[in-house]
Amino acid sequence: MAASESDDLFAMPALDRGAPKHNFPHREMPGPEAYQIVHDELMLDGVSRMNLATFCTTWIDEHAQRLMAQSVAKNIVDKDEYPQTAELERRCVRMVADLWHAPRPESVHGTSTIGSSEAAMLGGLAAKTRWRKRGGRGVPNFVCGPVQVCWEKFARYFDVEIRQVPLRGDRYTLHPDDIAAHCDSNTIMVVATMGQTFTGLFEDIAAFSAALDELQDRTGLDIPLHVDAASGGFLAPFTAPDLVWDFRLPRVKSINASGHKTGLAPLGCGWAIWREPDDLPEELIFDVDYLGGSMATFNLNFSRPGGQAITQYYDFIRLGRIGYTRLQSAIYRVAEHLAQGLTATGLFEMIHDGSPTRGITAASWRLPADPGFNLYDLSERLRSRGWLIAAYPLPADRQDETIMRAVVRHGFTHDMADLLLVDIDRCVDQLRKHPLSSSLTRREAGGFTHDATAAVSDETIAAALNLQRSDG
Ligand SMILES: *Cc1c(COP(=O)(O)O)cnc(C)c1O
Repeated sequence: MAASESDDLFAMPALDRGAPKHNFPHREMPGPEAYQIVHDELMLDGVSRMNLATFCTTWIDEHAQRLMAQSVAKNIVDKDEYPQTAELERRCVRMVADLWHAPRPESVHGTSTIGSSEAAMLGGLAAKTRWRKRGGRGVPNFVCGPVQVCWEKFARYFDVEIRQVPLRGDRYTLHPDDIAAHCDSNTIMVVATMGQTFTGLFEDIAAFSAALDELQDRTGLDIPLHVDAASGGFLAPFTAPDLVWDFRLPRVKSINASGHKTGLAPLGCGWAIWREPDDLPEELIFDVDYLGGSMATFNLNFSRPGGQAITQYYDFIRLGRIGYTRLQSAIYRVAEHLAQGLTATGLFEMIHDGSPTRGITAASWRLPADPGFNLYDLSERLRSRGWLIAAYPLPADRQDETIMRAVVRHGFTHDMADLLLVDIDRCVDQLRKHPLSSSLTRREAGGFTHDATAAVSDETIAAALNLQRSDG
């Protein structure tokens, strides 16, 4: 470029030409131009804090951002090279085990993971290996109610039959009385969900445990529980401490949770914890070098970012039990406020009203009557104001019913809930005054789905949306 020409970024050749899109680019371009192209394209992504479809962290404080930036080059698998990162992860494992009432938190096996999906796979693999070691033959299976797609993935990737018990009548969670009939000598575990993806409701895990006790008394079958506490694992211990769902139940052998959901860690953090060392078979453990000795690892991935576990440790020591309780209680109050506002419209029937003993910090609802539009129409209308709220069909046997769910998270305020309620009113009004010639179907509405057979899940979309920083 001649010195006399404009040096305005937007007149630079790379921006003038348009970004390479199809083949591997031949030419190079200056960093500022490449940055601007990528940055500007992402302006079309949703605003992550207005994305109430995701469960994942969309707001982290300044200290957490600094720790993340400082650890961006640290690989958590390099235990010997980054021994203090390994140490912080181990402290987190003990703290989480303590929070979930493990009998001996100082000696449990546990690990950080990239999220609950990896943690769930590890829990499932451990259960499968324990069953084989006990002499299990043939095709193993596990029994569950409506589960997150990671369990369908586990079943398919690791050759385990998934026995999803159909929902009974107008229930949204698995009925404890329905479990036993689906179990046999090839059942490696029952998966219980502490905070259902579809509705946000907690399952009655103590009742599941009692049903399995009764099955054992009757038949001798001793079937362990794995609790998928992806979002409930960092709520109930603080805001519903009397709910018994964790290692207080001897039948619970392993628990997973997403640090990057209600644990408040940045995206890319999950936890898997086993009750006793024996509950994680040694076949699944690999040793890596650590300070002249070795350290046990059990993860699906080798390299993983270290910043998430580091930042999780920061969250734990910054907030403690008192801080988490205060913060999660405040989020529940916003969820309940939102649910009350939705009820007050007279249009919606709440499935989960944001109560801390019934489910996670979320509200879910249905349309009991036909107001001339459906929830996909409403979801689509709300998008025009920037709100991303999931509408989707219920799982197997109740697929004819559509529900909507809003997950309320750290950083979503009472005022934002009021803004949303005003927009919902406005959208409902518009839909009534100008009925669409035909209502949207699920496929047309796109985006949100929990169906394992669909190309993208709502969590994938949520994760993509979340790549954009909340203040971006
Ligand atoms: C989100 C979620 C998962 C998957 O967790 P990721 O951290 O997104 O991998 C699994 N189970 C439940 C119940 C969830 O809500």
